[in-house]
Amino acid sequence: MSKTDLIIIGGGAAGLMAGCAAGELGLKTLVLERKAKPGRKLLMCGNSRCNLTTNISDDRMVQMFGNPVGPFLEPALKAFTPSMLQRWFAANGLKTVVKAGNKVYPHTERAADVLALFTDLLRDQNISLACSSVVQALEKTKNGFRVTADNFVVESSYVLIATGGISYPKTGSVGDGQEWAKMLGHTVSPYRPGLAGFEVDPQVMKGRIGKIYEKVLVDVLVNGTSVGQTRGVYEIEKWGVGGTALTDASRIVARKNLKDYRLLIDFQNGKTEEIRPIKTRGIKEAMVTVGGVALGEINFQTLESKKCRGLYFAGEVLDVDGPTGGYNLQAAFSTARLAVASIGKRCGKKGFQPLEKESKKSAPPARGSKRNYRRKR
Ligand SMILES: Cc1cc2nc3c(=O)[nH]c(=O)nc-3n(C[C@H](O)[C@H](O)[C@H](O)COP(=O)(O)OP(=O)(O)OC[C@H]3O[C@@H](n4cnc5c(N)ncnc54)[C@H](O)[C@@H]3O)c2cc1C
Repeated sequence: MSKTDLIIIGGGAAGLMAGCAAGELGLKTLVLERKAKPGRKLLMCGNSRCNLTTNISDDRMVQMFGNPVGPFLEPALKAFTPSMLQRWFAANGLKTVVKAGNKVYPHTERAADVLALFTDLLRDQNISLACSSVVQALEKTKNGFRVTADNFVVESSYVLIATGGISYPKTGSVGDGQEWAKMLGHTVSPYRPGLAGFEVDPQVMKGRIGKIYEKVLVDVLVNGTSVGQTRGVYEIEKWGVGGTALTDASRIVARKNLKDYRLLIDFQNGKTEEIRPIKTRGIKEAMVTVGGVALGEINFQTLESKKCRGLYFAGEVLDVDGPTGGYNLQAAFSTARLAVASIGKRCGKKGFQPLEKESKKSAPPARGSKRNYRRKR
């Protein structure tokens, strides 16, 4: 049986970036994706415009992730900062733009262009991406790993699990990576919906369905005291209440495991409203999963498991989640690159080529190809 350096399981945001990073280092790599096409969730990001990151410093980003996620992500975010992410995309033919709220998008504002960039890069770097390859089992062998998919078995020295969380399962992320992690001795923190709306008493919605309040301040109250604050949009939906201020509040509720809480909405015009949600919307409809492979069991400097040598994790399979605004894709991309850099080091590879410094001029041409992604009109 042939053996490769690295098998990446999952062709989502983290797995695709990891594949490209492995190509940059010259690692013999195979990316396995269960769906017929990769990046199903990536295509949905930012209403298909793909909010890639937030244009803030890495230190500020660490702070915004909060405890315990921020400190865990710090080495990954410092190794591949929001600024580096933008330069990486530009260097590969897709310039980015900064929009309201510091949100960064591809200049074409098409998630499809982000996916095309990844698959083009994988092809140009001879990194194999095998779609319709549902990995069924992952075993540790004497010198590496054996990965069993539906129709084949492959072996590698290293494995990177990038199978995502458990929200939006139709996109392919159903929790397989967490199950293999458990079998290999890891703890999986309980799943909770992150970045979801709230179900509320119909009286709250009465006469207001469809109403959008653009700039509100939300305090999550426990016994009348604020335990967290968010800002953004408040929307009255058919099923309850949502919008960025509310979905970010749901992440606070999940992270703090709150059961009895209220939401105080300040419309910033002298008016306020207090809501007692019935519950957060279900995890399948949440944008991210709170919970996953326990952070204490992963070396945050390398993203290698402390329980199973040679096994690495990246993206939402970990107990990692962030607020709305590009934080979750940044986390997926940064952890992917740190994990691959760590594997590369073990394989005797030099690090990544430095990225060109930020330039006000147009993006440099794509490396080694004529890639240039433009909105099709
Ligand atoms: C509607 C929506 C909008 C969002 N918008 C944004 C946004 O604009 N900005 C932002 O930062 N974040 C956004 N997010 C969150 C972001 O999409 C995720 O955090 C990110 O995709 C996580 O990347 P990942 O690679 O870890 O997981 P995923 O993208 O879920 O990828 C995991 C991949 O692994 C594959 N896989 C799973 N099991 C197996 C198996 N057994 N064998 C082979 N392959 C397998 C899956 O098919 C999938 O392709 C959004 C999420 C949703 C649902």
